[in-house]
Amino acid sequence: MIKRENGFICNSIKGIRIMYRAEPKMLLLNIFFTFLHGLSWTMQVVFTQRFFDSAQALVRNKISLAYVAIMLLGLIASYAFCQVMNGVDNCHARILSLAITKHTNLSIFKRIDTMNCIEFEDANQLDYINQAINGAGNIVWVCLTLLDIIFFYTTYFVLMGIYLFTLKPVLSISILAIFIPCFISNIIQIKTFKDLENISAPIRRECDYYESCASDLRETRLWGATEHFKKLFTLCLKKLNRLTLRAQLKKNVISMLMNFITVIGYGVILFMIFMLVLHKQITVGAFTAVLSSIGRLFSFMSEVISERISWASENVATLDNYLSFVSDTVDNGVEKTRCEESDIILNNVAFKYPESKKYAIKNINLRIKKGQTLAIVGENGSGKTTLCKLLLGLYSPTKGQILVGNTSIEKASNEKWSAIFQNYCKYKMTLKKNITISNENRTDEDADIEYICKKTGVVLDDEKLLNGINTMLGRDFAGAELSGGQWQRVAIARGIYRSYDFIVLDEPTSAIDPLEETHLYEEFIDICEGKTAVIVTHRLGSTKIADCIIVMKDGIIVEQGTHAELIEQNGEYKRMYDMQSKWYL
Ligand code: ADP
Repeated sequence: MIKRENGFICNSIKGIRIMYRAEPKMLLLNIFFTFLHGLSWTMQVVFTQRFFDSAQALVRNKISLAYVAIMLLGLIASYAFCQVMNGVDNCHARILSLAITKHTNLSIFKRIDTMNCIEFEDANQLDYINQAINGAGNIVWVCLTLLDIIFFYTTYFVLMGIYLFTLKPVLSISILAIFIPCFISNIIQIKTFKDLENISAPIRRECDYYESCASDLRETRLWGATEHFKKLFTLCLKKLNRLTLRAQLKKNVISMLMNFITVIGYGVILFMIFMLVLHKQITVGAFTAVLSSIGRLFSFMSEVISERISWASENVATLDNYLSFVSDTVDNGVEKTRCEESDIILNNVAFKYPESKKYAIKNINLRIKKGQTLAIVGENGSGKTTLCKLLLGLYSPTKGQILVGNTSIEKASNEKWSAIFQNYCKYKMTLKKNITISNENRTDEDADIEYICKKTGVVLDDEKLLNGINTMLGRDFAGAELSGGQWQRVAIARGIYRSYDFIVLDEPTSAIDPLEETHLYEEFIDICEGKTAVIVTHRLGSTKIADCIIVMKDGIIVEQGTHAELIEQNGEYKRMYDMQSKWYL
């Protein structure tokens, strides 16, 4: 993970390059619309001057009414053009944003796809992905801020500067008179609120947490702790309000001071143009046009600094995250080999999770013979699930080596591997899609899928599954909601639908009642016939179907053998088996 910290301009330029590569025509069109939008505001000023000058000339009978009418039409047209350009520019920016977000999201999915499963166990890495997703959503708006500054605001300010300069060079200084106090005021405001945000963010999080605890209608109310959380919430809120008040006060005092300077600047400009009219150095039309544009110059200046640049500088860090995330290089060049008819061999395998000091798996030496059923048992936290993930190549060993035949597991193709995970996915799709997701191109008859449903106990004549295997599952899209046990059966059906020669079943029946479970284990014997299978189970009676059982404790294998052998050994397995038997008796 490489993290860079670049500024607004540098990141925006990189972002604009991405936007150009994704949608060149749309981006250029957007720049064109933005430029026309900036131009349209200046045209208004020019036509205002022309109209008032012609009206004054008409009063003095120097020109015809037709000429004034044309100028009036020009003025109306320039106002209309400005409004149209405002709408077109904004609307096009939104369309561009949708098109670019599609590309940036796809690039994130592509990058996530190249990540190793173990990276998802790292909280920092998950934060990094979240920040990159935020950045992908902001990229267009941060980049458009820079493009608007160049093609809209600069166009308007430069053209206005030229216009004022041609009227009277001294007038162009008025732009600076507006710019300087506005700039200072906004920069101080941005800094004040940034500081406030840094100090108040953890307090706000604390406030939110206490509020959520206080409004919990179940546990907190049962413990009678609502008042306690309300008190903590009020204390926190008071602290937050005090900080906000202080920042607001500072902001308003600075604002007042700068507004005062601006008003003086206004007064000076007003006096200047009034004197220029009086001495007939500028026309009445020019006086009106300048007067009307001063307010707009001020509001644009304030908008670009306090809204656009302030927002962009706050969010440019997220863009940085996106750029570094998608540009992190991943080596995907490993050629995968199909390893059929092979044993799986673990040589001194050890594994440690990222950020963890302790090894979850230590010194495992094991051979899973082709076609064998291996059961893994052990207490919670003994390393069963971690071992399964290592066997599926989802994690790479920290030490040691896993071989599939003679091939290292990293290079072995998983095309013919299947799994039923403990935390299985509940896809909000039809039952058929849920089962066939690993190979949608397979052309099975519905009857074949219904057979798998029957084998795994997915009851199709249930009143919830009105459309049989074509019933939508999950409430999100108005489908049928299944119980935990029913969802687990769907996951089992998905696992065995895939054509495989190696399957891992990690507590496949944890949500299924004991009677049904016995029936399912009988089915597994049938289903796994001739295939290599690894079954993790808590219910020791079910291990009898396995050719070999390993007992895990603290990440190591403490016992190994068949059910009968382990009972005979009278060790950990026998102790656990007796404990469970006691409950059943
Ligand atoms: P089991 O499946 O036997 O319950 P696991 O394989 O889930 O055990 O866990 C083995 C050990 O690894 C435990 O000590 C557990 O706390 C630790 N562990 C599991 N997942 C993670 C993780 N994502 N990050 C850090 N430690 C983990």
